Amino acid sequence: MIYADNAATTKMSETAIHTMTELMRDTWGNPSSLYTHGQIAKDALEQAREDIAAAIGAEPREILFTSGGSEADNQALRSIAALGRKQGKMHIISSAFEHHAILHTLEALKKEGFEITLLDVHEDGLVRPEEVAAAIREDTCLVTIMYANNEIGTIQPIREIGEICRCRNVIFHTDAVQAIGHLPVNVRTDHIDLLSASAHKFHGPKGVGFLYAKRGIRLTNLIEGGAQERGKRAGTENVPGIAAMAAALQEALEHMAENTEHQRRMRDKLIEGLNQIPHAALNGDAVHRLPGNVNFCFEGIEGESLLLLLDDRGIQASSGSACTSGSLDPSHVLLAIGRVHDVAHGSLRLSIGEDITEEQTEEIIRDVSEVVEYLRGFSPIWRDLKEGRKEYIL
Ligand SMILES: *Cc1c(COP(=O)(O)O)cnc(C)c1O
Repeated sequence: MIYADNAATTKMSETAIHTMTELMRDTWGNPSSLYTHGQIAKDALEQAREDIAAAIGAEPREILFTSGGSEADNQALRSIAALGRKQGKMHIISSAFEHHAILHTLEALKKEGFEITLLDVHEDGLVRPEEVAAAIREDTCLVTIMYANNEIGTIQPIREIGEICRCRNVIFHTDAVQAIGHLPVNVRTDHIDLLSASAHKFHGPKGVGFLYAKRGIRLTNLIEGGAQERGKRAGTENVPGIAAMAAALQEALEHMAENTEHQRRMRDKLIEGLNQIPHAALNGDAVHRLPGNVNFCFEGIEGESLLLLLDDRGIQASSGSACTSGSLDPSHVLLAIGRVHDVAHGSLRLSIGEDITEEQTEEIIRDVSEVVEYLRGFSPIWRDLKEGRKEYIL
């Protein structure tokens, strides 16, 4: 089996599993209890906070633990919206290809009276910093642009956007779920005010994440109850999950240089191989791209069929279209970079892991090429293209 869907979730590392089971077995006290067993759990929690803060150049008190990336995104947007409302600033800037945790929260805020500007991401899948600058108004309370896109892997000019926001006195949030553990991220040098991350995207457990919020930024209480997380998120902390997240992140940082180099080489090999397929195109910029992301459109086929046939051959990948939700709409990300519906339907995302081998990339190229050719063999759209009744787009 070749697992090439690491953007959806990653396998937990042995270190993370070890840390988690050890804490579940031995450190199960409630961190809010004052006796020794509780305080040991409290120490583990605060050690994780220190380690995670250090990993992104933050201070421990700037880290809020959450149930994952979606919660961190909701918390960030809700908090700044509340602040904006108080100051009479009801305008938010984002991009058209954000994760649904951002887009759907923005839709909810729109219904509550906020005005939302969604910036274009251009054909290369990149937001232009000058367009962010041009969109900022007197009443803009927040700019939220993702660090790296989860479908096409493009890495945004975060530092430039952060600098612009800092100069213009606008709060800047980034959904860095795909970046943390895969790219070097520093909230100080990148001028980031708030950042969302999720453990299961860097070999930690599911259902755990964190929100970084720069000191002085007031967060709202998403969950009311006890005084955990300084009252911002009530509920007894997921100590084993949080400690495992910290362990996974430290491990990812230790091996980042070698992992990145290997993944980039495998990624570029895949891109080169898949580019040999006629009427195929890479989605998103080839350079400003996550080391593990390959995303292609193949004209004349359906992404879902491609996925199922690849699964039969032991390759687990994903398609841009929202097939899981039963909807036939093509991916909003592919539409945002200007792919037309027909082409966007024939997409394939391969998000490779750190341990992928040279032989596996060759197998993927061979299998994808064969399956695409096979599917085109009985595709009516492909016949129309071949016989000149329709024009090729790719
Ligand atoms: C996976 C993902 C999320 C959601 O994270 P969860 O921990 O699954 O809630 C948010 N944003 C991006 C970019 C993601 O890839």
